[in-house]
Amino acid sequence: MRELTYTGRRAVEWREAPDPALRSDQEAIVMPVAATSCDVDSAILAGHGFIDPPFALGHECVARVVGTGDAVTSVSPGDLVVVPWSINCGTCDHCRAGLTAHCTAVPHMAMYGAPIGGSWGGLFSDLVRVPWADAMLVPLPAGLDPVAMASASDNWSLSWRLVAPHLRNRPGARVLVVARGSIGLYVCDIARALGASDVLYVDPDAGHRRLAESFGARTAEAIEPVRHGFDLAVEATGRVDQLALAVKCLTPEGICESAGNHFRPGELPLLDMYLTAVTLRIARDNVRNHIPDALDLARSGDVDPARVVSDVFDWEQLPEALPEKHLKPVFVRKDG
Ligand SMILES: [Zn+2]
Ligand SMILES: [Zn+2]
Repeated sequence: MRELTYTGRRAVEWREAPDPALRSDQEAIVMPVAATSCDVDSAILAGHGFIDPPFALGHECVARVVGTGDAVTSVSPGDLVVVPWSINCGTCDHCRAGLTAHCTAVPHMAMYGAPIGGSWGGLFSDLVRVPWADAMLVPLPAGLDPVAMASASDNWSLSWRLVAPHLRNRPGARVLVVARGSIGLYVCDIARALGASDVLYVDPDAGHRRLAESFGARTAEAIEPVRHGFDLAVEATGRVDQLALAVKCLTPEGICESAGNHFRPGELPLLDMYLTAVTLRIARDNVRNHIPDALDLARSGDVDPARVVSDVFDWEQLPEALPEKHLKPVFVRKDG
């Protein structure tokens, strides 16, 4: 089989690898049928990552199950499933507490698409081994489009987690979104659907702003800090100065959720944050824990994640098209 391999700035290529085989009765082999780039992949492709190439890329996809071990009960060959970006066993203390991004059965940070906790391959590969199929895979609900939901592995479900629990606790909250990619746009859609009274989306990209407006957000290219302006701020830029802006806009006891991946250092206004009494959460997302909730929202029809998909390409176009700048390209297998 082929693995799409990141080889250097704006460069990927197919490399041959042995077909993955089941190593235990709890495993599955899946074939990605609709895969997309995470916002962090865009940073990696631009040369801003911290892991030296080459490595197999990709950690967002809907896949078709092609084989399962005898102990697997939740999915069967032929099923369409969401494959979570991080590897988790489902039975260790952390997994049972919902901390699926911190599973202790695998090396710290084990994930698809980056060799930082062992090598698990990437979801832009022709075939992928899933070490704990029942714990990891989530069947795609009938009626949901694999292309629209390719990002449920990470960015879509992360976006749900960044705002949904807070809007439940603070109905009608005012939400600031400082972003550069798909996460901020999903957040606008979800925040509006879940009753945010105001959403301001800040991004220098005019095309992104038009999309945010289509989700009912106000938009700006850039802003000065708005003192006590927002109950909830979401930062998804990878830039510490933008995270500082987000926290400076919060009301007393406001909450800032950061999607993280700040590859370069910077300073936060900690005294301001102390005086305003803000909560900042910056966290690798325990995505497997809330993929089902995020899919439920998608199924409700109150949101439209398909609108964030910028391009649909054939699987064979991956080497040429992935390194180009696209907001949310989805690569689809004809034989999937
Ligand atoms: Zn990601
Ligand atoms: Zn575990």
